[in-house]
Amino acid sequence: MENDELLRDLVGEIDFDPAELKAKYLAERDKRLRADGNEQYVEVTGDFSNYVDDPYVERVERKPLFDHTEVIVIGGGFGGLLMGGRLREAGFTDIRVIEKGGDFGGTWYWNRYPGAMCDVESYVYLPMLEELGYMPKHKYSFAPEIAEHTQNIARHFDLYDNACLQTSVTGLTWDDDAGHWIVETDRGDRMTAQFVAMANGPLSRPKLPGIPGIDSYRGHTFHTSRWDYDYTGGDNSGNLTGLADKKVAIIGTGATAVQCIPHLGEGSKHLYVFQRTPSSVDVRNNRETDPAWAASLQPGWQQERMDNFNILVSGGDQDIDLVQDGWTDIFRNLQGAKAKEAARKLGRRLNSKEYGQLLEMADYVKMNGVRARATDVVDDPEVAAKLQPWYRQFCKRPCFHDEYLPTFNRPNVTLVDTDGRGVERITPTGVVANGVEYEVDCIIFATGFEVGTTYTRRAGYDIVGRDGRTLSEHWADGLRTLHGMQAHGFPNCFFMGFTQGAVTVSVPQTLNEQARHIAYMLSEVRRQDGSTIECTPEGEQAWLDEMASKARLGARFRAECTPGYYNNEGQTGNPNQFFSGAYGAGPIRFFRILDEWRENGRLDGVAID
Ligand code: NDP
Repeated sequence: MENDELLRDLVGEIDFDPAELKAKYLAERDKRLRADGNEQYVEVTGDFSNYVDDPYVERVERKPLFDHTEVIVIGGGFGGLLMGGRLREAGFTDIRVIEKGGDFGGTWYWNRYPGAMCDVESYVYLPMLEELGYMPKHKYSFAPEIAEHTQNIARHFDLYDNACLQTSVTGLTWDDDAGHWIVETDRGDRMTAQFVAMANGPLSRPKLPGIPGIDSYRGHTFHTSRWDYDYTGGDNSGNLTGLADKKVAIIGTGATAVQCIPHLGEGSKHLYVFQRTPSSVDVRNNRETDPAWAASLQPGWQQERMDNFNILVSGGDQDIDLVQDGWTDIFRNLQGAKAKEAARKLGRRLNSKEYGQLLEMADYVKMNGVRARATDVVDDPEVAAKLQPWYRQFCKRPCFHDEYLPTFNRPNVTLVDTDGRGVERITPTGVVANGVEYEVDCIIFATGFEVGTTYTRRAGYDIVGRDGRTLSEHWADGLRTLHGMQAHGFPNCFFMGFTQGAVTVSVPQTLNEQARHIAYMLSEVRRQDGSTIECTPEGEQAWLDEMASKARLGARFRAECTPGYYNNEGQTGNPNQFFSGAYGAGPIRFFRILDEWRENGRLDGVAID
């Protein structure tokens, strides 16, 4: 900013050299950049498919189904639940949810690891609290309560009726003569449906690192999203008594690892934490829900709170911050309020260069605070230094936890930092890093989920649309959709998630908006006595043009980031990326576009026949 004094006034005293910090960030990124990008990970198929078996329920046998349903919803997580719920509200009765897991819940069905919880505020994150008359127990809910809430939504909207659990879709084909979809599954089903909504989820396919020797290990091993409590003992609240005589390795230090490492530290004889890149871990400060506050809430409070949160964490400004937590703090400091204050002081709006400078400086200050926290909490200065993240706040998902950093003060916990290189090798008896072999009884992979791979690979099947054209073919040169939810040549098929739509901190908020929008479209087909709804090539093109006009936002930022799934492991040119595939003008504008589209009733870009 031209006016250095103003900058100081806004972000506080600058007791560091920004150029030096930037150079350090870039050097740390360069250490981690690798040519193989997403290819460094192994698909959990073939010899590795046991990593995705369901450890939580027995398989229930059933006969294959060959029936017809008006709407099939694929996926029973929050996306599928919200879709089912909004369809019921719109008067649709003939609905079937198909879900891979043994129950509803999606990510909250699978992720039951000790300490699993949601670090987005429960009153915002858990959808349909008012509809169900439920108030979460804590400001941040633990996984079992969230899983129970998903099941309550399913019961509330009668979604268990007609559901196919423990069932994976293997094929989806449009039959143009019959005007319906043929849905095939791993249970031998060949069902048909007039409409299909895909709520497969963006983080539903676990991945493993392609570390040499990974298949040679003879000890016990599992992925965090399939936690083996038979082996570890205990439950979501910890108490992992089965590990008392075990040496345990955990590979990965992302948001999942941050939550389970404190319990592993407490339960294991010895815990080795293999770190490639440290997470940014700030204060969480959980607390029980205040009954007096809950009793004071007025009807409509949840939507109001969700909107307030979403506006603040999308860089907008609000007179009050209802949630007041680490998330809103980051954004209040980094974006809306600061820019507004600067504009007021300058007497004009900031230009984009000034805005970028302000953000960068505020980011340095914020991350200096996060790094200082590691030094304050961790006793050994060398260990503390290795736990400090050297990148901008949103290069990786920010974490909030009060017990993670203190775990490294335990005598039975060793941080094995690999200085960005990762684990070298796995042997039949242990893990090798920095040339040293650590013998362990168990390896836990906290290595995350497939995000940057193609939509159809993540879904596990391709979609065959009109004239036998597949979705992979349609998207071979990049995604093409209207509002991220429909593609030309794929009538009566809807995509939910982040594909060419909005990325929100609280994921169910996007899913809820999409569910409302899709339910509206289906209601329009009914109202017009039609049988199909499909986006036109012009509709697709109009959305692509709108996407392109906003696409450059954040491109340089991502390119300068340390690799991770937010920037496609550093390969930022790929159009399938998590953020570049999203609408660049952000969720507030995106939701407004959807609202206006429904309100004007013209159904621009779609055809109903
Ligand atoms: P991530 O993809 O965030 O983390 C994977 C971890 O594995 C990273 O630390 C990565 O290191 C590490 N890794 C990968 N390969 C190697 C290797 N060869 N050697 C050593 N380390 C390796 O997965 P998570 O499961 O932690 O989180 C996924 C997402 O799930 C989150 O980003 C978040 O969106 C969601 N989540 C949300 C929570 C909530 O509270 N709402 C809680 C938990 C998860 P590197 O960083 O270097 O790539």
